[in-house]
Amino acid sequence: MAADRPEGVVRLGHRPLIVSDVDEVALEFLTPFKLFLESRQHRLVPRSFRLTGNIIDLNNGEAASEAAVKALLDAFYDAQEQWQTPAAQVVKTLAELSTEADIVFLTAMPPRHAARRRALLDALGLPYPLLASEEPKGPLVEQLHGGRELPVVFIDDILRNLHSVRDHAPSCLLINLMANAEFRALAPVPGRGIHAAADWAEAAPLIRGHFRRWAPRN
Ligand SMILES: [Mg+2]
Repeated sequence: MAADRPEGVVRLGHRPLIVSDVDEVALEFLTPFKLFLESRQHRLVPRSFRLTGNIIDLNNGEAASEAAVKALLDAFYDAQEQWQTPAAQVVKTLAELSTEADIVFLTAMPPRHAARRRALLDALGLPYPLLASEEPKGPLVEQLHGGRELPVVFIDDILRNLHSVRDHAPSCLLINLMANAEFRALAPVPGRGIHAAADWAEAAPLIRGHFRRWAPRN
């Protein structure tokens, strides 16, 4: 399984590595998920930084249960190609960065949705390798990078994932990027060593600056 042995399925060159999350980072997630919910008589209300408790069933006005939210997410991912679009400037920015760095997508969705996601990314001009795993991201990034004396960057909207990578791959540049501005405003403060970028136009110079400044430890 790709999830167990990421180094076995992704071949890296001797150059910098960019590991990017997909939902809310490379692909819009919250904005199309809101539209999807409306089509199913539900509404996402941005009251706090979470889905469960903030999705209202419009048939009874109640918050959808955790199980119902999971079922809605599964249905959304089953139809993702009809809903999800690229985040602003991601296609151009990653194409430019791919001339000097390897790019790998690391998505936390269940692996059974990975084939659909692969097809969607390809169709949108995002042909970079995709790893789908619900394991903590820090060990996966560490395993992928393998302690090489090369710069590595990790981009995600969820702080838990950024903290996991900070703990396991301490040389990694960490960027917190979230496409949806409404939820970004509700997000917790990133914390020590994590750079915030509102979009890919802000992330690109952070990444290039890290490549330029990086020097092997010896
Ligand atoms: Mg995400």
